[in-house]
Amino acid sequence: MRGTSMRHVVFIGPQGAGKGTQAARVAPMFDLLHLATGDLFRALMAGESDLAAEVRTYYDRGDLVPDELTARVLFAALDERAAGSDVRGALIDGFPRNAAQARVLDEQISARGEVLAAVVHIDVARDVLMRRLTGRLVCRACGATYHREFNPPQVSGVCDLDGGELYVRSDDTEEAVARRLDIYFSETEPLLERWRARGLVRDVDGDQPIDAVTAAIAAAIEPVLGPAGR
Ligand code: ADP
Ligand code: ADP
Repeated sequence: MRGTSMRHVVFIGPQGAGKGTQAARVAPMFDLLHLATGDLFRALMAGESDLAAEVRTYYDRGDLVPDELTARVLFAALDERAAGSDVRGALIDGFPRNAAQARVLDEQISARGEVLAAVVHIDVARDVLMRRLTGRLVCRACGATYHREFNPPQVSGVCDLDGGELYVRSDDTEEAVARRLDIYFSETEPLLERWRARGLVRDVDGDQPIDAVTAAIAAAIEPVLGPAGR
């Protein structure tokens, strides 16, 4: 790990805004660890354990997994992946989603002597989100995200990066998507006010081509993280 303390970036945006797609591009550019709580839960549920079964009961309905469990899984992954690596910090995607989680994030970051450098708010209108989510495909091996129409893989059903099988997430049903969007707008989006007051929020228009969104995010975080390495 570097001598200086880690500087973290949080991505906030509704389901389908492109957080996962953009994090996979932006994290390597800025030497950040990409930590997505949804990906961590999907990896956990790929195995059979009591914890996996517990997570599944919330996940498949589109409900939030309990805060304490989510924070434990996130910070364990941060410790494990940051150890011995040369990252500047983490790009946290999917956490926090409510006020209790936002408090835990602040407490953890300050207890570790680390910094929340920026909150990137990726915004997209609700009707566009529905179209994106109903065509989403995810690689079973690496978690890379595609879209049947907007970002198709080179070979149908196969990941461009590692040849893994593409599947439709169990919670990308119309019902679970609607439930997740309701939770986002009632519990997650209001958190922006807290970070705006601290001057941390960078607003990015997510309804542009994928490359244009990446460029806008890079331009927004470069002033607080330093120049992109790649
Ligand atoms: P989130 O992580 O915010 O839920 P994803 O990155 O999984 O969003 O993107 C949701 C879906 O929309 C995916 O199928 C993805 O390929 C597609 N997508 C992402 N960004 C764009 C974009 N700028 N334009 C069109 N489709 C996009
Ligand atoms: P989406 O943003 O499309 O809901 P994610 O992959 O980020 O998808 O999350 C999928 C599911 O994982 C959520 O519906 C929820 O059950 C669980 N989850 C992810 N992040 C959190 C979190 N911060 N708190 C509680 N549950 C979470």
